[in-house]
Amino acid sequence: MINKEQIENLKKEMSGKTPEEILAWGVGFFTPEKIALSSSLGTEDQVLTDMILKINPKARIFTIDTGRLPQATYDTIAETMEKYSILYEILFPESKDVEEIEIVHGPNMFYKSIENRKLCCEIRKIRPLRKYLSKLDAWICGLRREQSVTRTGIEKIEWDENFGLVKINPLADWSDSDVWNYIRKNHVPYNKLHDFGYPSIGCSPCTRAVKPGEHPRSGRWWWEEPDKKECGLHVVDGKIVRK
Ligand code: SF4
Repeated sequence: MINKEQIENLKKEMSGKTPEEILAWGVGFFTPEKIALSSSLGTEDQVLTDMILKINPKARIFTIDTGRLPQATYDTIAETMEKYSILYEILFPESKDVEEIEIVHGPNMFYKSIENRKLCCEIRKIRPLRKYLSKLDAWICGLRREQSVTRTGIEKIEWDENFGLVKINPLADWSDSDVWNYIRKNHVPYNKLHDFGYPSIGCSPCTRAVKPGEHPRSGRWWWEEPDKKECGLHVVDGKIVRK
């Protein structure tokens, strides 16, 4: 297991490296079964999927199936599996937990209150993720500094206090154009909802298209105040940020 002093040194060492160099380092440094790429099938995750599989075709890649994903996301999973001949590790929430919240609060509980929405995210995303990450030493994420004001401080390598393991953000200094240029140049599959005004895609009932000029993330949990929008997957500088 890596210690905090090593993390500080690695932050400096990795700051000028390319995403491919960082991924190659991560894949070589950690035991193969102790490092995995987290994918929500977003554009950044698709870039990292293409990159990591070129480095190690057997790299572990996981995704969370909350049970409420849009059909276009399932189509992207299927297309990606076929293109790269891979199997995702798919995390599901505990069925008894989902049964409990739906029986008590109904299938559209997230619209009724922030507490209900957070409970739904906790049951469908955070619990399966926490259980999965507890067996890893490092996870790889597609976070970029440009995505929101809460992400400006992310490092390419950092210690994830929330889940207790190393977090690797190879695309930290990439722009949205960098991501799309890579996707087009390398013919990487992407979620077709992006072609219909959905820059950020999560669960179907909690995602809608945005109008030109609106913040790319304004279509996520659009009924909530901006400072309440989070699901607990990522903590940056002590603040929870959206994914
Ligand atoms: S994004 Fe919406 S449907 Fe998905 S887990 Fe969170 S509240 Fe539930």
